[in-house]
Amino acid sequence: MCFLHVLGGTGLFALVDLVSNMKLPNFAKWRWGTLDGVCRHLEKGGLESLRLSFDPAPFRKAKDQSQLNKVVEALQSEQWNVEFKFVSWFSNWLGAILAWVGCCLCHREDYEAGIAVECTQKGRLLSVAYEYADGKLQAGLAIAHAWKPHMFGGNATFVAELQGCVRYVVATAYIKLDFLDRIPVLCARLRQPGVRDRCLAAHLYFLVFSLVLFVRGASAPHPLRLIH
Ligand SMILES: [Zn+2]
Repeated sequence: MCFLHVLGGTGLFALVDLVSNMKLPNFAKWRWGTLDGVCRHLEKGGLESLRLSFDPAPFRKAKDQSQLNKVVEALQSEQWNVEFKFVSWFSNWLGAILAWVGCCLCHREDYEAGIAVECTQKGRLLSVAYEYADGKLQAGLAIAHAWKPHMFGGNATFVAELQGCVRYVVATAYIKLDFLDRIPVLCARLRQPGVRDRCLAAHLYFLVFSLVLFVRGASAPHPLRLIH
């Protein structure tokens, strides 16, 4: 509150409003979704203004100054700023995919408007889950591939590392999503192009495989015949 009072004294009333409305959870509640929410609030809450006008004076009476020094160092650092840009984009990208899992298809506009939804259809997304995740992952990959060094402080090596991070996450995501692209779950996507043929081919393979096992089992000597 003292910090907000000092900001108010300098005439930065809009920044006071933005900072006082920030919702920053405590460390015990950190999850991917939490990181996404915090980054959104920081960006919306005028982080850039806070970086330019942050005055540590109100906190100088505290016994432990080490945390304050880290905050001052971070807010003054250009490298921290470009790293925050990436973390914010990254958590927004993945956070949107994670949040979508708890939604429904009939209230899309309400979710986008941030309105709380009560619906019995929530989570019934099996038929479109792979298609949705695939689209979001590919869109994120395309954005990352378009990044240029000047967008992240002019450091080409740093940008290459960020792009590698995104590629790794996309590759891992496809491994995790693989079960959605195989039968029996694949059968929930029969209306999508090419899926019906893939299901038929998979069932045909299963039938042939079962038939081979059956024939081999029938031609093998019966265990009782071996005893006599
Ligand atoms: Zn709904």
